[in-house]
Amino acid sequence: MAVAEIDNPLVLFKRLNAIFTDLIGPASVREGMAERLLDEAFESFEHYVKSALDGIDAVVACRGGCASCCTIRVAATAPEVLLIKHYFLKLEKARGADFVRDLVARIEQAHEATQGVGELDRMEVGEVCPFIENGLCVIYSRRPLACRGHASFSEHACVDALSGEEVDVPISEPHMTARSLIQNALQSALRDAGLGWGIYELNHALIIALKDDNCERAWMGGEDIFAPARIADVSQEEMAETFDAIKAAVA
Ligand code: SF4
Repeated sequence: MAVAEIDNPLVLFKRLNAIFTDLIGPASVREGMAERLLDEAFESFEHYVKSALDGIDAVVACRGGCASCCTIRVAATAPEVLLIKHYFLKLEKARGADFVRDLVARIEQAHEATQGVGELDRMEVGEVCPFIENGLCVIYSRRPLACRGHASFSEHACVDALSGEEVDVPISEPHMTARSLIQNALQSALRDAGLGWGIYELNHALIIALKDDNCERAWMGGEDIFAPARIADVSQEEMAETFDAIKAAVA
């Protein structure tokens, strides 16, 4: 699937919305839905960014071992939260129960330290993401779109900004655009299917998911189980109106 070749972002949104709707499918076949949706979302993200950066004379500076931006508030959809929950089982097999127990404790501690802190203040609080281990993200292959959307053309500027200097970090617009477009198209498809379609603070939502064995079933049954973790920067009514307007505007 090569949605990245579509130049018009509104057309791309509608196309992705339709693809996600197909992948969600009827209520009887939703097993493995989070994996299906996010395989598509992450692949579309890579396609879009590669195509948009083609011909641009700048190189993304992000690399393994640089966790400069990993004090951000991570916003995630419900499938992204569930994907990470599923990945914990793999981590437990690969690294042991103690590793996962420590990781969960770090998530709870980070949630305590950042609860109620808005996006802009989050960097100032400086609480490092609980998924960082020796400078690397332990859920890198499953990291949410919000993390993928943060990309910089200058590691130096990121490090200066992290130390409190007022610098303009040259961020990659294609990464940001891809994140918004794909995340919003996914939200819109979830909404159309009657599923919880909010954006949730990752640590808080994961704590909810990890404490409730029935959470996935409840979410698939239409319950917005992550609602206490919802980020309400933009109202759901406003977002719903925008999604509907785009779908109506594009033939
Ligand atoms: S989830 Fe991974 S990539 Fe995202 S902020 Fe945390 S450590 Fe960084």
